[in-house]
Amino acid sequence: MNAEEILKTYFGYDSFRKGQKELIDSVLSGRDVLAVMPTGAGKSLCYQVPALLLSGITLVISPLISLMQDQVKALNEAGIHAAFINSSLTETQISKALALALRGTYKIIYVAPERLESAEFLRFAMHGQISMVTVDEAHCISQWGQDFRPSYVKIVDFIERLPERPVVSAFTATATKTVQTDILCVLKLADPKVVVTGFDRENLYYRVEHLPGRQKDNFVMDYIERHPEESGIIYCATRKNVDALQTALFKRGVPVTAYHAGMDSTVRGKNQEDFIYDRAPVIVATNAFGMGIDKSNVRFVIHYNMPQSMENYYQEAGRAGRDGGQARCILLFSPQDMVINRFLLEKKEFAEGEENAEWLRERDYRRLRLMEDYCKTTSCLRNYILEYFGERPGTPCDNCGNCHQKFSEIDMTDDGKWVINCLAETKGRYGQSIVAGTLLGAKRARLREVGATDYKSYGALSHRKESDIRLLIDQMVAEGYIIRTDGEYSVLRMGDFTKLRDEDTRIMVRMAERNVSLAETKKNLAEKMGAKSRSTDSFTSAGFQLFERLKKLRLAIAREEAVPPYIVFSDKTLIDMCQRLPGNEQEMLAVSGVGRNKLDKYGQRFIGEIAEFLGSNPGILISEETGELV
Ligand code: ADP
Ligand code: MG
Repeated sequence: MNAEEILKTYFGYDSFRKGQKELIDSVLSGRDVLAVMPTGAGKSLCYQVPALLLSGITLVISPLISLMQDQVKALNEAGIHAAFINSSLTETQISKALALALRGTYKIIYVAPERLESAEFLRFAMHGQISMVTVDEAHCISQWGQDFRPSYVKIVDFIERLPERPVVSAFTATATKTVQTDILCVLKLADPKVVVTGFDRENLYYRVEHLPGRQKDNFVMDYIERHPEESGIIYCATRKNVDALQTALFKRGVPVTAYHAGMDSTVRGKNQEDFIYDRAPVIVATNAFGMGIDKSNVRFVIHYNMPQSMENYYQEAGRAGRDGGQARCILLFSPQDMVINRFLLEKKEFAEGEENAEWLRERDYRRLRLMEDYCKTTSCLRNYILEYFGERPGTPCDNCGNCHQKFSEIDMTDDGKWVINCLAETKGRYGQSIVAGTLLGAKRARLREVGATDYKSYGALSHRKESDIRLLIDQMVAEGYIIRTDGEYSVLRMGDFTKLRDEDTRIMVRMAERNVSLAETKKNLAEKMGAKSRSTDSFTSAGFQLFERLKKLRLAIAREEAVPPYIVFSDKTLIDMCQRLPGNEQEMLAVSGVGRNKLDKYGQRFIGEIAEFLGSNPGILISEETGELV
C-alpha cells in the first residue's frame, strides 16, 4: 500500500491536508522532520501513516497518559496494532507488552518520556527494530514554552544509544521561533524538513460579547438551549463561579458537570470522564481543566470571564473543534473582568529572589492589556489573534463575530454624571440593581421601599435600556469613577470622579448596533460555513433529527466498546453520513472518516439506522441535485 491507500483504508479519508503529504514523504525518505501545525490540523496522521509503511516499530513520546490512551484506542478502532507503556500499567503488564513488542506485535508504541530511562525499556529498545522516534507535543522540550518537561531533554540521549539511528520526527502547535529553534537544537535533528503551516484555525468562529456580569448566566443558558446536545466547555475565572454556574445550569436540566482544583481528585477524575464519554456533554471549569483532553467533538468554548492573556485564551478556546468541524469560541466580557484580573495579578507572587520578578510582572500586565484589547477591538478577531502570534493577517475573515457586527462607541458622559448623582443619593448603601433600577425609573416595590422613587435621579435615564445602564456602570467601575465593593452584598460607592469635571474627559461605552439583524448574521454564517465545511447549521430539521439518531447509536456503541464516542466516529463523520445517506457498504466507505475496520465493525448498524429513519419518515424528500435531505 502507499500513503494514500493507508489513509483511505485505515482512517477513511480521501485526501491529505495541508502539510501532511510533505511530512510523510520526508519521513519515508529517511529525513527528520519538524512540523508546526495548529491544534486539530492532523499532526497524528503525519507519523501514524508512515509508521505503517516503515519496516520496524515507531515509538511515540507523548507527555500525558490520557493522550496516549486516547490515541491508542483510536488506532485500535481503526484496526492498527498499537500499545502504550506508562505508569498506568503494572510491572507485569509492562513486561508482557514489551515481550509482545519484541515479537513485532505493534507497529506503534506510545511511551512517556520518563520510560526511556528505565533499564527494561532500554533492553527492549536495543533489540527491537525501531524505525522512527516521534516526539509529540515537542514544545515540552523547551524551557521557553509553557509546559517544559525536564525528561523531554533526555530523549536525545536515548536516541543516541540506539544501535541504529532512527528517523526522528517532532510535532508541536507552538508557533514561537524560539521554541522551534530549541526543538531543532535539543533534539539534534539532522538536516530536518521543517513544515510550518499557518496558525489559523478556519473552523473556529470567534466572538466577543459585552455583557454586564449578571447577564452572563442568561447568555449561557440561552446558548445551551439553542444548541442542545452539543458538547462544550465553559471556562470561569474562579471556583466560586464554576460552582454557581454549574448549579444554575443543572437546575435547568442541562447535563452538566464541573471541574476545578478545589475538588477531590476522584470527583475531578470522574467528572472529566463523564465529559469525555458524553455522559455530561457540558463542563464548567477553571483553567485547571483541559490539559491532555483530546475530545474532538467540543462544539463550543465559552469564556465566562476574560482570561489573563491571549496565550491562555488561544489554548483554552482551541479545545473546540479538534475534529475540524465548525465550532464557536465565545468570550463574555464585562469591565468587571479587568478588575478581577488586575486583582489576581497584584496578588500573584513570584518565587523568592526571582530576579526577573519586576520584568515578569510587567509582562503579565502587558499581556492582560492586550487581552483586553482583543475584547474591545471592533475589527476582525481572527486577524487580531494571528497578528498577536506573529503572523501577517489578511483581509477581514468574514467569519467572526466582529466581521458580522456593527459597533458604535456611545458617549455616555452625561449619563455617567447621573450615575454619580444617584450614588450620592443612595449614599453608597445599595448594589447595582437598585442603582440601575432607580436611574431607569423602574416601578419596583423595593425601590419605593428604600425611598428611591423620591430621588432626583429617579428616572433620569429612562430613555436608556437597563442593560445599557449596567454596561455604563461596569465601564465606570473599570475606569475607577465608582467602586464596587467585594463580598456577598456588593454595593456601589463613589470613586475618584474628579477627572469628570474636565470637559475633555468622556465616558465612552462600546455597544453593538442593534440594527444588524440576527437572522442576517445567521444567514451569512450558514453560507460561509457551508462553503468551508459542513456543519449542523446547514441541516434542515429532518437532517437534524437523523443526526441526533446517529449520535444516540454512536453513544450506545461507545458504551459497548468502552471508548469515548468521538473515537467511534467524529461529529464530522456523522454529519457527512447525514448528508450522503449511504445505503450500502460501498457508499458508507465513501463517508469521510469511515475506514475498512470501522466499516466492518459498525457499518451495518449505521446503514440500518439511516434506512430505518428514511423508511419511517416517508414524507422526507431527498434533493435530486445534491442528494441531501430537504
Ligand atoms: P493535532 O494533533 O494536530 O491537534 P489530530 O492529529 O488529533 O490533530 O487530528 C485532528 C482531527 O483531524 C482528527 O479527528 C483526525 O482524524 C482528523 N484528520 C487528520 N487528518 C485528516 C485528513 N487528511 N482528512 C480528514 N480528517 C483528518
Ligand atoms: Mg496532537
